[in-house]
Amino acid sequence: MVAETESPVSTSSTTESLIAAADAHSAHTYHPLPVVVATADGAWMTDVEGRRYLDLLAGYSALNFGHGNRRILEAAKAQLERVTLTSRAFHHDRFAAFCEQLAELCGMEMVLPMNTGSEAVETAVKTARKWGYRVKGVPAEMAKVVVAGNNFHGRTTTIISFSTDPEARADFGPYTPGFEIVPYGDLTAMREALTENTVAVLLEPIQGEAGVLVPPEGYLPAVRELTRERNVLFVADEIQSGLGRTGRTFACEHEGVVPDMYVLGKALGGGVVPVSAVVSSAAVLGVFRPGEHGSTFGGNPLACAVALEVIAMLRTGEFQARAAELGEHLHRELGALTGSGRVTGVRGRGLWAGIDIARTYGTGREVSEKLMERGVLVKDTQGATIRIAPPLVIGKEDLDWGLAQLRGVLGG
Ligand SMILES: *Cc1c(COP(=O)(O)O)cnc(C)c1O
Repeated sequence: MVAETESPVSTSSTTESLIAAADAHSAHTYHPLPVVVATADGAWMTDVEGRRYLDLLAGYSALNFGHGNRRILEAAKAQLERVTLTSRAFHHDRFAAFCEQLAELCGMEMVLPMNTGSEAVETAVKTARKWGYRVKGVPAEMAKVVVAGNNFHGRTTTIISFSTDPEARADFGPYTPGFEIVPYGDLTAMREALTENTVAVLLEPIQGEAGVLVPPEGYLPAVRELTRERNVLFVADEIQSGLGRTGRTFACEHEGVVPDMYVLGKALGGGVVPVSAVVSSAAVLGVFRPGEHGSTFGGNPLACAVALEVIAMLRTGEFQARAAELGEHLHRELGALTGSGRVTGVRGRGLWAGIDIARTYGTGREVSEKLMERGVLVKDTQGATIRIAPPLVIGKEDLDWGLAQLRGVLGG
C-alpha cells in the first residue's frame, strides 16, 4: 500500500488510476502503452475514456478475424450453453470434427491439441524427441533439436533455454540441454549443425518477434530438402505466421514448403479462448501412448467449437485472399516511407510488416506512443522496430486511415 501523502498523482483520470492499480498489483512482465481498453469491435478498440483506436497489432495475430467476430461469438455462445469442459478422460462430440478438419486444413493426418502456443512448441519438442528415440533410433538422451538465432517460440523454461534474447533468459537457468542454435537464413550453418542425433529443425517461417524477418528466398525449401535427406523432422512454428496472416493459410506455402509438423496457436482460438495444436502425420504423432502427454484443457469442447468456426472461415480462402490483396497495398504504401529518413527498412508478407525506425528519429516505443496519440495502436519490438499486423477483416478505408497516421509520424 502506498501512503496517501506519497501519491501526488491525480486519480481523477480513470486511465491513470487503472494503470496505477495494475502496476501495483501485477508483476511487471510487460510495459503496455498507456491505454486502457474497455470494448472492441472488428479492427477498433475503445478505451475507458471513450477514445477509439485502430488496432494494428491484433493480439500478435491472435485476432486475425477481428474483435467480436460474429461467427466466432455465435459458435462460442452456442457451445457455452451445451458443454464447455469434459477433460480428455471422456470423449466429447466436437473433438473428432476439430481434429479431422484441422488435420485436413493442414494437409496432415493427426492433431495433438493444447492451449497456448508455448505448450504447443513444448509438445512439438517432446514429439520430435520421442520420434527420434522410437522411430529414428537416436541413442537415449542424445536427441538434438536445431533452432534459429533470434527465435521466439514462447516463455517456458525449456523454450527460453534455446532463446538468444538475454532478457528472456537471464536468471532463469539452469537451462534445458539438447538444442543447437544456428543463424536464421544461413544454410551452411544449418547443414553443419545436423548430426545423426538431430531429431528436428524448429523454425518460424517468418520470424515475428525478431521484427517480421522474412528469410532469404530459397532458404526454407533448402532446409526442407536437407531435413528430408537427413531424416530430420522439419517443424514449422506457424503460431504467428499461420492461419491467413501472410496471404496464405501457412507462410511455408509461399515457397512451396510442406513441413513435417505445424505448430499452431494464436488465431486458432479466434481471439476468444487459447487454442493451440501440433499437427503432423500419423507416423510422427502416432508415437504417443496414453499417459505420455496431455493437458486438462487441451481440446476442450469450447475450444473445439471456436476453432471449428475458425477452420471453416479459413476453408473459404477469403481471409487469405484479403490478407494477400490488402497486404500488397500495405507494403506498397509502407515502401514509400523508406525515403523519409525516419524509416530505414520495411519487411514482411501479407498483412504483416516490420518497420525499422532510424535511431536518429526515435525508438520503436516513442513511435508507438506518437501513433497512439493519433488513435493507432502498434507494438514495438527489438527496440527500433514497430510491427504492423491488423486484423484480416480490417476495412480498406480503415487501413488507409491507419497508413495516413503512419505517414503523419514517419513521413517526415
Ligand atoms: C506467440 C508465439 C508463441 C508463444 O505463444 P503463447 O500463446 O504466447 O505461449 C510461440 N511461437 C511464436 C512464433 C509466437 O508468435
